Amino acid sequence: VIGVGGCVASQEGEALHKRAPFVDIVFGPQTLHRLPQMLTARLSANRALPALVDITFPEIEKFDHLPPPKSDGPTAFVSIMEGCSKYCTFCVVPYTRGDEVSRPLADVLVEVEQLARQGVREVTFLGQNVNAYRGALHGGGGGGEGGGDGDSADDSGDYADLAELIVLTAEIPGIGRIRYTTSHPLEVQQSLIDVYAQVPKLASHLHLPVQSGSDRILAAMKRGYTALEYKSKVRKLRAARPQLALSSDFIVGFPGESEADFVATMNLIQELNYDASFSFLYSPRPGTPASALPDDTAEDVKRLRLTLLQDRLRQQAQQFSRQRVGTVQNVLITGRSQRDPGQLRARCEDNRIVNFSHHDDGLIGSFAAVAITEALTNTLRGEFVAVAE
Ligand code: SF4
Repeated sequence: VIGVGGCVASQEGEALHKRAPFVDIVFGPQTLHRLPQMLTARLSANRALPALVDITFPEIEKFDHLPPPKSDGPTAFVSIMEGCSKYCTFCVVPYTRGDEVSRPLADVLVEVEQLARQGVREVTFLGQNVNAYRGALHGGGGGGEGGGDGDSADDSGDYADLAELIVLTAEIPGIGRIRYTTSHPLEVQQSLIDVYAQVPKLASHLHLPVQSGSDRILAAMKRGYTALEYKSKVRKLRAARPQLALSSDFIVGFPGESEADFVATMNLIQELNYDASFSFLYSPRPGTPASALPDDTAEDVKRLRLTLLQDRLRQQAQQFSRQRVGTVQNVLITGRSQRDPGQLRARCEDNRIVNFSHHDDGLIGSFAAVAITEALTNTLRGEFVAVAE
């Protein structure tokens, strides 16, 4: 049985059958939970029939069908919202996952409590636009839709935002570290900045995609902020949490990107000093406004820009790794090293993996102080100091 799933599958829908008649099942991100029933239906049906296609948007239903919370070690991901209402011109997510819909606050907190009882020490809140979270305070019904400027739901008083969710999660016994991804600069409200000063359990790492350092390109992308506004938010975040590690996504070669636009992005990277980040060459997504924009930049020019940008990002991340040597990091021990069974593997607040020699598996799931002794290309080496409180 051949199934095609995900955002673009959802966008292509019935058209996939014409291109690939052997495909049996087509499902979208919102109907992944229906896959078992679709498989059963397909297996009992005539396989010569056109593919079974379910790319509907049963937004709330998806949250109702999440598997029971289950931990796999001391870390867990918790979906708190789905979809995106931002409509960046290059992105298919709003068309394939629908507008922002948040889970009610109580549902999320109950799930985290259950996970904590199973031994989870670190939760990562997930959503396409996770800091647009507006979880209903009362009753079920599936929460609210994030507003374009992120303020409207707060004003109603009937919703909890991500900052409130983080504060409440930090009070759940057993939970020692909180992360969230992926966030949007437009939705970084003062309340979220404040929790970096107020909640030590919130990890000192933030993935805040900027995409470009050029205001012209940011406007063409419809990102809703200027480079200056983005930098101002980063400054406030770093004032609240000076050791905050910042990572980002960058799109290189967006239609019409000039040399000056690219230089603006490189300057922004230089100024903000990013930790390990993601960068991509722009590729048009069918049906998005950007895919219709004229693009006269040569492919080899775009590739050269991507190489330069990735080199700069790599240098900055390696510099951060080297700066860790000689420091003591607060790590969560997550298991045994895959390469060396004599070592335990742990994760620092900035998401770096650190391996250190230790025989005691009983430490897995504990926070500990580890002295960093060496920076390798992708990981750190350290020496165990002590179990943290
Ligand atoms: Fe896509 Fe992110 Fe923009 Fe939403 S905010 S449209 S998910 S790139």
